[in-house]
Amino acid sequence: MNANVFFVGDFSEFLALFEIMMIVSSAIALFLVAVLIYYVKFMKKVAESRFVRKSGPRARCPYCRTPVMPGWRYCPSCGREISSLWPRRAQRRQG
Ligand SMILES: [Zn+2]
Repeated sequence: MNANVFFVGDFSEFLALFEIMMIVSSAIALFLVAVLIYYVKFMKKVAESRFVRKSGPRARCPYCRTPVMPGWRYCPSCGREISSLWPRRAQRRQG
């Protein structure tokens, strides 16, 4: 591979331009991918915080309709067990 091979005649200008365009476009593509990854992570965070906010005050005891917090084992109003309402993650924490 000799440098003279690439710089012969008028075609060399086209090759140089093509090479620059390739470098620039690949740099732009890398930048876009980085932005996309950052955007996805940001949206995940937003979705999680929204989910937490939504599920907080909406939960109610199925027996007496008293508002309860997710993860509570017993209803503070009627004393019935409500741990079956929550997903497994909350139940595992209790034992
Ligand atoms: Zn209750």
